[in-house]
Amino acid sequence: MSDKIWDVAIIGGGPAGLTAYLYARRALLEALLIEKGPIGGQVLLTDLIENYPGFPEGIPGFELIQKMQEQVEKYGLNLVQKKAIALKPEGELKEILLEDKEVVKARTVILALGAGMRKLGIPGEKELTGKGVSYCATCDGPFFKNQIVAVIGGGNTALQEALYLTKFAKKVYLIHRRDAFRATPILQQRVKENPKIEIIWNTVLKEIKGKDSVEGVVTYNRQTGEEGFLEVAGVFIFIGHEPETEWLKGVVELDEKGFILVNQNMETSLKGVYACGDCISKPFRQIINACGEGAVAALSAEKYLESSH
Ligand code: NAP
Repeated sequence: MSDKIWDVAIIGGGPAGLTAYLYARRALLEALLIEKGPIGGQVLLTDLIENYPGFPEGIPGFELIQKMQEQVEKYGLNLVQKKAIALKPEGELKEILLEDKEVVKARTVILALGAGMRKLGIPGEKELTGKGVSYCATCDGPFFKNQIVAVIGGGNTALQEALYLTKFAKKVYLIHRRDAFRATPILQQRVKENPKIEIIWNTVLKEIKGKDSVEGVVTYNRQTGEEGFLEVAGVFIFIGHEPETEWLKGVVELDEKGFILVNQNMETSLKGVYACGDCISKPFRQIINACGEGAVAALSAEKYLESSH
């Protein structure tokens, strides 16, 4: 593998990376997909996607990924399931160092890294992760049948997952630090109408309590200054995402939060390197725009390869 020079190496196999791969292969480029985990990324954690056009009844996250994967497999999927840990320009080429020291050489690189789940950073969170603290409702929701759980956050993910958790839990506290959600109105409406969900406004968590498993959360009302305790068996944290771009510092330009800066052609500050999907600096993170950016990144890479011949 290490002697081969790929036209394009795509790092990350979520919707952005898979679309970039599809476009690259249809441009008859020699493409390699590098993905450290299962193909699909965050979408795999979503129960039902209702805003991806073409699926009027909605489509489960894993099914949408399955379809995207089937589509790229039609063009031959060259896949390496390892973590990329370094990227460096080497003359006209780019070298990607993988965790096992293998080196991938490519003429162009598309960074479709996605983003990791942001952590609260409070006592008990780390200790009780996997013991009642979760960042994935589709993975862990069924463990909380007829129990009481808390969901933290006020964005689309928190509200969507709170609704999903009502399928299992007997009650869901939705705890948000402000007095207004940032989620889309239709989700807000559904949450407010759901009798199993109790919204707790202006409140943050101070601590997650429990010995071998979660027993409850210590809350703090930011308006009244009051502390409280809620008995819950599960705490689902959906407070946004963080880029996983530490390893790219000094290689491509990042914004102040660590997301990759790109122009409208998805070009990064390093020639021949493109980025797309949740890892780029942008206001809206949706599957549909991740796919669109993946297509643009691949088309830009194709154009660059043509012009450098
Ligand atoms: P998000 O939109 O960034 O929302 C994060 C939420 O967590 C915000 O309500 C924020 O509060 C809260 N928060 C952040 N840090 C916190 C902390 N330390 N303590 C307590 N609360 C904290 O993240 P997201 O909901 O995961 O969504 C990520 C992106 O994916 C968004 O662009 C979203 O639109 C998209 N998405 C879309 C859909 C959909 O279209 N159906 C579904 C899922 C995700 P504040 O509001 O006070 O800042």
